[in-house]
Amino acid sequence: MSDTSKLANARTGTRLVGAGRRKEWTGPVVNPPVWRASTHLYENTASLAEGPRRNEDGRFFYGRRGAPTQWALSDALTQLEPGATGTVLYPSGVAAIAGVLLTVVKPGDVLLISDNAYDPSRAMGKGLLSDFGIEPRFFDPLDLAAYESAFCERTKAVLLEAPGSLSMEMCDMPAMARIAREKGAISVLDNTWAGPLGFAALEHGIDITLMALTKHVGGHSDLMMGSASAGPDLYPRLRQRAQQLGTVVSPDDAALALRGLRTLQLRLEQETESALRIARWLSNREDVAQVLCPMLPGAPGHDLWKRDFTGGCGLFSFVFRGGNAAARNRFVDALQLFGIGFSWGGYESLALPIDPSTYRTCMAWPPRPGEADNRYGVRLSIGLEDTDDLIADIEQALCAWRAE
Ligand SMILES: *Cc1c(COP(=O)(O)O)cnc(C)c1O
Repeated sequence: MSDTSKLANARTGTRLVGAGRRKEWTGPVVNPPVWRASTHLYENTASLAEGPRRNEDGRFFYGRRGAPTQWALSDALTQLEPGATGTVLYPSGVAAIAGVLLTVVKPGDVLLISDNAYDPSRAMGKGLLSDFGIEPRFFDPLDLAAYESAFCERTKAVLLEAPGSLSMEMCDMPAMARIAREKGAISVLDNTWAGPLGFAALEHGIDITLMALTKHVGGHSDLMMGSASAGPDLYPRLRQRAQQLGTVVSPDDAALALRGLRTLQLRLEQETESALRIARWLSNREDVAQVLCPMLPGAPGHDLWKRDFTGGCGLFSFVFRGGNAAARNRFVDALQLFGIGFSWGGYESLALPIDPSTYRTCMAWPPRPGEADNRYGVRLSIGLEDTDDLIADIEQALCAWRAE
């Protein structure tokens, strides 16, 4: 697969196999080797002088601009993102959020942040960005009219996330991106949940789409990385800001991310199927008040997910009917096959007690108004274990939930 333009019309599986594998980077082997490099040596002083002048992707200069291993990964991610001109890699998902936001807002600007965004994104608005004179304002992404009226003259960007972190609400992203554009603001989406296979963000009007590669792309819980992709207007700005911030990822991690990428579709399909079966099973339990899984017919946000998305993943949440925090924690502690941890998207299943009410400012929790007792939630990241084993594990843990 030396000519990556052959991939232009290929279907997803084929693109995942070929993406980023340019002959000039792979040489005679299948994968681009791990180029560990800080110094790049020049032939002579004339080529040395040329180095800084030609600041282009895929061109040696100095280690901070990467080498073929990192170039192959960003090239692959660009090929998987319809409408993208290029992709910047960051040392973590949070670093990607910071790198993107520091590109699109400056002192005096207002940044709108979805109230159900990943908590470190909110914290970044209130901490780092506030310190730099940028004003974060939170909005309820389920209320389009409130969102529209939240814009002011100084609003220069919006940060969206769907489904929302922990509570999985879907919002009308094409409409929100359109409103942002009409107001002269840049729309940024944290698309970690669906990734480019599940939601073609730029094609739905989003200006910059970012992901924690730590999650699905890495897929094996052994690397931290983030990425952001954009079209011809914004990609050069992202790239320039990343260079100014000294943003670089290790070639070893880039090689691991490339390895993860090859099996991304297989893992996502398997995890989605398994998560759906588990979500359906949970929705029929007495002890469960609500399953928060937009892929599940009848669940909140399913219609928008069905309209806009082409795939899902293994991450969803549910809330118990009644109970209390201690009972919920007994459930999580009783699980044998689920690890307890903050991450997700790995091959192994994880569980996390959730309480979005501790940090949100405009969205209500519990998820169903008038059901104040049904507030104790758990987020599950479904991995590649056998689904029946996972269901049996959840079933036995529900006994611990019921035990006094
Ligand atoms: C995990 C996560 C991130 C941050 O990624 P890290 O690599 O852990 O910094 C960003 N957004 C979402 C939605 C996440 O779940």
